[in-house]
Amino acid sequence: MLLYKKIEQELICKPCKLAFAIKDDIPIMLEEEARALTPEEA
Ligand SMILES: [Zn+2]
Repeated sequence: MLLYKKIEQELICKPCKLAFAIKDDIPIMLEEEARALTPEEA
């Protein structure tokens, strides 16, 4: 399940506990480029 957070410009994947940055409307779907979700976000 992916959640699109418009304000943060991130695509959240809760099962992976990762947030992918969106650059120029294109999500960067690379695990090494993603940031880990905080416990509040996960
Ligand atoms: Zn995932």
